[in-house]
Amino acid sequence: MPLKSPEEYLESLRKMKMEVYLFGERVEEPIDHPIIRPSLNSVKMTYELAQDPQYEDLMTATSNLTGEKINRFTHLHQSEEDLVKKVKMQRLLGQKTASCFQRCVGMDAFNAVYSTTYDMDKKYGTEYFDRFVEYLKYVQTEDLVVDGAMTDPKGDRGLPPSKQADPDLFLRIVEKRDDGIVVRGAKVHQTGIVNSHEVLVMPTIAMKKEDKDYAVSFAVPTDTSGIKIIYGRQSCDTRKLEEGTLDRGNPKFGGHEALVIFDNVFVPNERIFMCGEYDFSGILVERFAGYHRQSYGGCKVGVGDVLIGAAALIAEYNGVPKASHIKDKIIEMIHLNETLYCTGIACSSEGHPTEAGNYEIDMLLANICKQNVTRFPYEIARLAEDIAGGLFVTMPSEQDLKSPEIGKYIEKYLKGVEGVPTINRMKVLRLIENMTLGTAAVGYRTESMHGAGSPQAQRIMISRQSNLDMKKKLVKDLLDIED
Ligand code: SF4
Ligand code: FE
Repeated sequence: MPLKSPEEYLESLRKMKMEVYLFGERVEEPIDHPIIRPSLNSVKMTYELAQDPQYEDLMTATSNLTGEKINRFTHLHQSEEDLVKKVKMQRLLGQKTASCFQRCVGMDAFNAVYSTTYDMDKKYGTEYFDRFVEYLKYVQTEDLVVDGAMTDPKGDRGLPPSKQADPDLFLRIVEKRDDGIVVRGAKVHQTGIVNSHEVLVMPTIAMKKEDKDYAVSFAVPTDTSGIKIIYGRQSCDTRKLEEGTLDRGNPKFGGHEALVIFDNVFVPNERIFMCGEYDFSGILVERFAGYHRQSYGGCKVGVGDVLIGAAALIAEYNGVPKASHIKDKIIEMIHLNETLYCTGIACSSEGHPTEAGNYEIDMLLANICKQNVTRFPYEIARLAEDIAGGLFVTMPSEQDLKSPEIGKYIEKYLKGVEGVPTINRMKVLRLIENMTLGTAAVGYRTESMHGAGSPQAQRIMISRQSNLDMKKKLVKDLLDIED
């Protein structure tokens, strides 16, 4: 049975020997580390919900490769309906975790690599597609988490990979052997890598002939010798080391990113899915980015649902739920959030089959979706801060609340409406702090800006896909203008 239980997922990670560093030290058992654990809980939720009959339709799918019931996070989309369900699944998980649940990058990479290896084989007679299908069957059957890794450090942004002063600033092939290749380089801000069994590497930009050693795609286990994971800091992360959970804001869940070093990592032939075909590098990037831009029309909307709920609840606790300006601000938050959802659904409903057979989103609409995501969550967060009032950044700690000497003052003076315990008001305020300024702000704010490509990357795609000539022709036809 390909569906792992949440406990089996935990145990499977415990068996791995990843080289993880945090605060300059090696972390012996990452899954038990208090800073890492909440992010693991978010990924674990993708296993939990897949076991729940009420979410079966969204969380699972039938594999076109094995005919078995699999977790949708390992699925190749087979229809527009599958693309829509993907977005709905991501909204659901955003609602349940109020954070980044990390497993989408792998799903988006599978779908992009699948169609691209097919196209490469057609042009070059290579055997990447069959290799990738075998690999994905393994991932589906074992119900694995795979981190899709795209972003290189990039050094001087004005120079291509092969012209950098340090040739390792883009990940590259340093040695070719009969049985495989050796790669060196790094990938930055890798979402969820410590909670992943495997990493699926892709190039990060379109490339030319002189960059062909950098046009490489492959997959290896995350505990492969030479892979070093340096855990990324988040604002307020050390609150997770404190006693109690109130000041964390989101007591159970979180996300993470890391800098991942590939220090002469060996990749066997059967795990290589691109090796020098530089003309397909840009195509793979565009497809992966397109899928991940669609993803944000689901996950950020689900997280937005929680933030809107928190704003409405704190208005209630503050005694102002009926104030007309508060109601209007909440309506505006809903309007913005549902607009994001509309574009996520639209680019899915307007999807189309690729030559390989899986379904791809409408690229223009997926880029519009992500461009909106670079803006609307900021406005939603601004409105939540407005409604919350300043207390969410000036409030004393949980320890103060529990103190025998001063706790009673906090109880008394931080109380809102009668009948709501002070601690409940503090919990909601801390959640708003977490989502707008704390650890979850990485996922809801800055990742909304830069994840799946910074705003300018979408504008380039929008301009490329916009078909302005057709629009100009509409005018000429209307006005009987002949060239
Ligand atoms: Fe999934 Fe969203 Fe996290 Fe990307 S940012 S991995 S789409 S939850
Ligand atoms: Fe992301």
